[in-house]
Amino acid sequence: MKQILIEYHTKIDVVSQFKTVQSEMDSGKYKSLLFHVYSGILDEKILISLCRDLKSEFPGCVLVGSVSAGEIIEGRLMDKGVLISAMLFEQTDIRFSRFDDVNGREKEVGQQIASLINETEHIKAVEVLLPGTEINTRFIWEAVSASKQGVQVFGGYAGGHDMNIGEHYVFDEQGLTDNTLYLVSYVGENFHINVDKSVGWQTLGHAFKVTKSDENRLIEINNIPAVEIYEKYLQINRNDNFEENTFEFPLIAKTEGDELLRHTLNVEPDGTLNMAGYVTEGMDIYLCYGNPGLIVEGVNKRLKEVADFRPEAILLYSCSVRKSFWENYVNIEMIPFQKIAETSGFHTWGEVKRDPRTGNVWEYNITLLSIAMREGDRPEGDLGEIVVDDSVLKGQASLIKRLSQLVSATTSELQNAYDDLEKVNEQLRILSNHDALTGLYNRRRLDEFANDVIDTAEQTGADVTMLMLDIDYFKNVNDTYGHDVGDGVLVEIAHLLDEHVSSHAGAAVGRWGGEEFLAVIPNMESDQAFDFSEEIRKAVEAHKHKDIPERITISIGCLCFRGKEFDRTKLFKDVDDCLYEAKRRGRNRVIQTKL
Ligand code: GH3
Ligand code: MG
Ligand code: MG
Repeated sequence: MKQILIEYHTKIDVVSQFKTVQSEMDSGKYKSLLFHVYSGILDEKILISLCRDLKSEFPGCVLVGSVSAGEIIEGRLMDKGVLISAMLFEQTDIRFSRFDDVNGREKEVGQQIASLINETEHIKAVEVLLPGTEINTRFIWEAVSASKQGVQVFGGYAGGHDMNIGEHYVFDEQGLTDNTLYLVSYVGENFHINVDKSVGWQTLGHAFKVTKSDENRLIEINNIPAVEIYEKYLQINRNDNFEENTFEFPLIAKTEGDELLRHTLNVEPDGTLNMAGYVTEGMDIYLCYGNPGLIVEGVNKRLKEVADFRPEAILLYSCSVRKSFWENYVNIEMIPFQKIAETSGFHTWGEVKRDPRTGNVWEYNITLLSIAMREGDRPEGDLGEIVVDDSVLKGQASLIKRLSQLVSATTSELQNAYDDLEKVNEQLRILSNHDALTGLYNRRRLDEFANDVIDTAEQTGADVTMLMLDIDYFKNVNDTYGHDVGDGVLVEIAHLLDEHVSSHAGAAVGRWGGEEFLAVIPNMESDQAFDFSEEIRKAVEAHKHKDIPERITISIGCLCFRGKEFDRTKLFKDVDDCLYEAKRRGRNRVIQTKL
């Protein structure tokens, strides 16, 4: 295959340039011809006439046109021009479909595209060009995501230079339209394509949650109006020239292992942000900024992949935000692609790509999408190292690069410190609630827990059972086998008690002190409580200890009451009295009182 690029200046001039394409086609070597027309000017008459000339000169060609925020010719920005890319294929079938009146039937269109993918044999890729406007494209991509895996999906959203004026049109010989989706299918066993994106925008600070959204409207973040994220952290207020100020600080949403960048278009009076792509509730989002160092690194990584692929033609669909970000330096990230193969494309209002791991098709913002194409086997040999020349990034860009580095280094230090603090807090929380020897609740937490259960019971009138349990003649264990063995026995009994008590929903047992335990069991009335106490007592008696031959027994005081207002101190005394009575009557028994 081959790509020939033609710059449109005047009608006469351009028609003469068609000859290059014509003579190639006359050679009989090529089977299909695909024209992309990217236009930075919005003169419908000129564009229709150009498309008609192409169509009449090359009957049978496929032609798609897109309004552009910057045309890319030989890896360079050609601002506000008209660029024609002719792609000539030896073995690949290029097919065209158009979907009109998409608005309101997004899902249906998505399903039709999915069927087309599923039903076309040897289809390798589909390209979509569509206006970046009223269409709820998320529904299209959701449906397309379900289509046959392994077929590449890529494309761009059309839109002009001016961020404030619509100008979202695709076009062909029939005219301009803002409600039509063009689809180009690349079909053929010998067609190979490699598509990926480079980003390089770096997260700032910690994650926020999208708590309320509606398609492209980001309503609340962490339950507060979305605009406050910019007001609080970047001092960009809703009355400021919002888009201009926020555009260097877009949002990154992390979803299913992928990153979707979203830039902010404007803010509504209630603080809702209108984004250049959809956001969904539950997404983690971060503020981010363009880090020239990271961007260059990302493009270099991609250049290596593209060079390894050895394409015969390259398309770059790059977000218009990148153009504004780089200003005079925009070419540095595009020119190296031209060293690999003839490179064209345009600056978009959104990039489309399928994730090969999940099959999901996403709309991105702020990415540089590079589409490498080849027919037939990869040629022998390597192209050598092709990288971005960033030596020109002096002055301001170099200052940004260093400041970005400072911010990212300190952010990651803070994040690490924050993570460490979280871990320490978690340990402290465990320590403050749990007994070090047995791991059960300690007395402080037990007291709190018992009061919570009793509070609830007072409100609902539910039954509560409290058990005070004490090991019989435990001193003898220590005296005979030593304190360490005593500790082991204590732990074994603690775990036994926990096993039984925790099997009741909402119940807990803890260490009240020494070799004494307290269990609090909601919703257990007195008959059941007595049986349950006996079950525990017998289980302890039957337990064969690891380090001592003797069986160990416990005495249990069992207090049952039904929710009304109780004197808490008296409850603890009553259950303790039961335990004392069990000891007095000879131990290894349950004494119950019901209030
Ligand atoms: P009774 O049947 O009357 O409860 O007899 P007892 O020996 O269990 O009771 P007493 O209150 O006389 O002694 C309790 C013993 O429990 C004394 C103390 O050394 C031991 N003890 C308390 N806490 C621990 C502990 O953490 N580890 C060990 N090994 N022993 C403990
Ligand atoms: Mg004891
Ligand atoms: Mg005791």
